[in-house]
Amino acid sequence: MATTVQWKIKKNPTFTIALAGNPNSGKTTLFNAITGAHQHVGNYPGITVERKEGIINLKDVKIKLIDLPGTYSLSAYSDEELVARNFLVNEKPDIVVDIVDATMLERHLYLAIQFFEIGIPVILALNMMDDAKRQGLIIDTDKLAKLLNCPVVETVARSGRGKGHLIRTAVQHIKESGKTWKPIQISYGAEIDLVLDNMTEIIEEQQFMTDRYPARWIALKYLENDSEIIRYGKLNGKVAEQLEAIAQRTKEHCLKTLKVLPEAIISDYRYGLINSILKQDIVIQEKSRQERIDFTTKLDSLLVNRYIGPILMIAILYGMFQITFTVGEIPMGWLESLFGWISATATLLIPEGLLQSLVVSGIIDGVGGVMGFVPLIAIMFLMISFLEDSGYMARVAYMLDRVLRIFGLHGYSAMPFIISGGIAGGCAVPGVMATRTLRSPKEKLATLLTAPFMPCGAKLPVFMLLVAAFFTEHKAQMMFSITLFAWIMALLVAKLVRSTVIKGASTPFIMELPPYRLPTVRGIFIHTWERTWQYIKKAGTVILAVSILLWAAMTFPGLPTQQVNQYELERQAVSETTQGMTEQQALLEINNREGQAALRYSLAGKIGTSLEPLSRLAGFDWRTNIALVGGFAAKEVIVSTFGTAYSLGDVDPEAADTLSTRIAADPSWNKFTALAMIVFVLLYAPCVVTVVAIAKESSWGWATFATIFNTTLGFGMAVIIYQIGTKLFM
Ligand code: GDP
Ligand code: MG
Repeated sequence: MATTVQWKIKKNPTFTIALAGNPNSGKTTLFNAITGAHQHVGNYPGITVERKEGIINLKDVKIKLIDLPGTYSLSAYSDEELVARNFLVNEKPDIVVDIVDATMLERHLYLAIQFFEIGIPVILALNMMDDAKRQGLIIDTDKLAKLLNCPVVETVARSGRGKGHLIRTAVQHIKESGKTWKPIQISYGAEIDLVLDNMTEIIEEQQFMTDRYPARWIALKYLENDSEIIRYGKLNGKVAEQLEAIAQRTKEHCLKTLKVLPEAIISDYRYGLINSILKQDIVIQEKSRQERIDFTTKLDSLLVNRYIGPILMIAILYGMFQITFTVGEIPMGWLESLFGWISATATLLIPEGLLQSLVVSGIIDGVGGVMGFVPLIAIMFLMISFLEDSGYMARVAYMLDRVLRIFGLHGYSAMPFIISGGIAGGCAVPGVMATRTLRSPKEKLATLLTAPFMPCGAKLPVFMLLVAAFFTEHKAQMMFSITLFAWIMALLVAKLVRSTVIKGASTPFIMELPPYRLPTVRGIFIHTWERTWQYIKKAGTVILAVSILLWAAMTFPGLPTQQVNQYELERQAVSETTQGMTEQQALLEINNREGQAALRYSLAGKIGTSLEPLSRLAGFDWRTNIALVGGFAAKEVIVSTFGTAYSLGDVDPEAADTLSTRIAADPSWNKFTALAMIVFVLLYAPCVVTVVAIAKESSWGWATFATIFNTTLGFGMAVIIYQIGTKLFM
């Protein structure tokens, strides 16, 4: 990017620019447009909890760009707001670029006002100018800049329009304002102003935290009852008590005279200020395009309608499953043949023995089993990305709030659920991290514990395998039911824990519904690719390693020589007595028995067998046990272990069959074994990475609880399904 700004500084200095703004204002999109980095762009408020950095080199200056979490204010109401505020105070960026949605100026300027108040150098990016134009809004940017006394640059983050101008303006402003913070004073009415003056005087006199914050700002925070400032103040001397007393007195006075809290008065005045600015013909609405504004409102009256909304939601999600399975089957078949061919070729090229077994059974079958599902998962991700980017997913969260509330959860819980795989094909690790948007620790904990029930991308292949084997005619319906079942279990368990171990009232739902947008093809493909690539990468690393390990456990120790000799003798006997087809079949039967015996004799076989007395209750045989134990490491391993276990037991290289047909043909399997296994895999212990994430978000105690509780629950349900199913229907 070229810059025309010229000034004399010896070495290239580094400027820190922080991108701030309300959730969904386009920060991440702008960040990506400027740095070229790819990140996830979603439509949920607050999905950017992590801080992201990018470096750009201009001709004569280096810029460190930081994507702050989305915030509506700078109060200590949520983690995001605190993170953003502490970043500004502790790291003192050279400038804040406040990204403002041009179509929602009034609401978005609220944050800008607070930057002015704390005094940090700030410029505004008036984003979504394309949307504003489409809605027929004409914005007088120059006048706005003059009234706010702050540079304003128009941008369209999605196309990158205005980003160069924005950076140049920021650099110039840094150069002009230096590092000095110039807090502005807003009047909050005669009474509050008087109190503020009084407090400011005390704060300045005692130099109370003035090294960190402007004095009047501290006073304001005391009046706003800012928990963080009050807590921090207590560590800083006796002045705190004095200030708290004044704040308390003011509060009582306001309540008595006006029946409102001081923070409500303060926010009223801020909005008043914004309105007085906007009223000066800053935004003009073109009459002819009036209808376009109503597009979102009109669409919402249908999509978020109390009665039609939920029905449409279920129809849309159900449609997604149908499309995924009809379309996905085609490339899936190709991949299956490809891996079959690779496997056959490797069998031909590598001489029979341990190496062949490692390559064919351990690596190709193991990893192939996982890779075969890539097309399905990619299609699923594609549709989820579309729903997210279009803004519909936020509506799903909004509608689900009504239901979630009943179960002691919150509308925000929907996001962790959906990210974890609530519409099938997510991952519980980012899902668990997304619980940070929940303000109440109790609702957060309940969400944390139940989000891993969702059918994540790693469990999907297991379900698809079993569904393909036993419920061929009803694939989409089955997958849909599995997802529905996951939600029901998550809600019931949430209700259970919220009425026992984590009791407490629920918090109200505040969430901004972003306007509908037609997602860009590029954006959707980037998101789909990122998620699919994560899946492929895991198959190539963790799953490959665990596959090889499990292969070794399933191969060693080999059968004792004596037994091997016995099978050899049997084979010779067959060769002498029979001929032709019958001979081949008899040989195959012996080979199969030998393979099974060897697997059972191996380390993994012994572990699986020792669990069998218990697992039989749910219909799981020792081979299933091996796979399920492997699944503790990563759920993907279940399918790959199946691949290995069933290819070790089957030595017919000519059979053009797939894993699912092999399982379907196995006499130890039936519909109810499959159902029990589906339910167990859905519910049992989260994978290791998720357990660590849960521990980080809560404690190791809760992580252990999740592991033990979920496994017990899963096993109990599996036993019930298997026992009732086989007793009643078979
Ligand atoms: P953040 O929450 O502030 O990080 O917002 P995102 O960058 O995730 O953007 C939210 C949504 O707004 C995404 O769907 C973006 O594609 C979209 N978006 C961002 N900037 C623009 C813009 O300038 N114009 C339009 N029409 N859409 C935008
Ligand atoms: Mg973001």
